[in-house]
Order: sequence, then structure tokens, then C-alpha cells
Amino acid sequence: MPARPGETLALWEALSSTTSVARGASVLVALGAADGLADAVRMPLATAARAALGELRERAGPQVQTVLTCPDCGAVLDVPLRLDDLLDATGDVPEGAESGLVTVDGVVVRGPTTEDLLVALTSTDPSAALRDRCVTWPAGVDATTPDPAVRERVSAVAEELAGASALAVRLDCPDCGGDVAAEVDAVALLADRVADEVRDLLSDVAELAMAFGWSEADVLQLSDARRHAYLDLARRGGAR
Ligand SMILES: [Zn+2]
Repeated sequence: MPARPGETLALWEALSSTTSVARGASVLVALGAADGLADAVRMPLATAARAALGELRERAGPQVQTVLTCPDCGAVLDVPLRLDDLLDATGDVPEGAESGLVTVDGVVVRGPTTEDLLVALTSTDPSAALRDRCVTWPAGVDATTPDPAVRERVSAVAEELAGASALAVRLDCPDCGGDVAAEVDAVALLADRVADEVRDLLSDVAELAMAFGWSEADVLQLSDARRHAYLDLARRGGAR
């Protein structure tokens, strides 16, 4: 079912009125998955990214195109992203991670939230700051020199917890065979999609407002079918 125009506009306003770091949290609020921004910034980035991916799937269908540039030969590639595959890849929460926490070898690992990211970005070394906030070593263990095997298991769990917030695509360049890889930012993809929809919607509103002397609210109340029928009429000179 297509989203109602009012919902599309509300989502667009939420996405365009926040900084890119907090956009995932805005998505959770706009979709009703969080009570407010204060609540949403404490939810995992993975939850926000997965919600954005689901909303994008609803609006855009099973596939969206993204554009990547080959780092070796500079070829500009149109790459299809299969959203169902991405959703499947992020569907499994690591065992015991329902609470957002996983304990491995006594080390407690938490999926990063928007709040973690915002705090980490004020540090001189954001990635180390983010790790410090999300990984708690047991008392008496020196976090700077852990057993390499433990460190590896901790990283693996952290990666799993990042889920939909750390998606990537990888392909061979059809021109030179080089390795092309890029992160998939589900929230940014949703923001682009919603911005396109809003551009079309507002152009319909402007056209009908001018043709029939209606207000924005009048036009937004119309169903898609009626809006398109009136646009047809206006374009055929029906609004004399
Ligand atoms: Zn190439």
C-alpha cells in the first residue's frame, strides 16, 4: 500500500531537519518505533538502519539502484541493491542479543547507538571512543593487551551487532575486473527515496493549487487516484 502523502512529508521533514548522524534516530521516531528522539538515540544504530531498510522496501519495491565508482579505473557503475537480500542478511540477531548486549569471554559487547556515535564524534579518536563505550572488559583485564583470540571474538560479535548499520556491497568491476566495495547506508538511501517522492508530490500540489485554487491541505487530502485524475484534467485544460 502506498504511503499517505502526509506520512511521506512528515518522514521527509524528520530526515531533513536533523544532522546525518541523528537521521537514523529520526526515522525511528517518524515510523513510530520510538517514543521520542531522546528514546530513539539510545536505540541501536542497527535497529534504525533495519527500520530504514524495511521502509525503503515498502516504498521502492524489491530493488534500488546505487552508483559506485571503480577505484582502479574510474568507471561509474550502476549497481542494483536487492533489498530483500539485505534484509535477510540482517535478520538474525546474535544469540542472547535481544537486550542489545552480548557477553563473550566475560567481555560485554553492546551494539552502538546514535548517542554513542554523537559522544564519540566529540573525541579526538572517534573509533576508539566508540569501542570504549560499547565494549566493557571484565575487572582486572587490561583492555589494551587482551589475548588476540579474545580480541578477535569480541570484534566478530561487535560486527554482528552492527548488523544493518554496517552493510556493504562488493563486486568485480565489469571494465577492469577490479574490486569495488562500498558501504550501504540504508538511512541515506531512504532519505534520497523520500526526497524524490516529495519533489513529485509537491510539484503535484503546486500544479493543482494553481489550476483549481486549492490549498496544500486540500490537495494532500486527495487519494493518489483522485490527485492523478485532477492532474489529468488540469493538463487537458479542464480547469477553465
Ligand atoms: Zn574498474
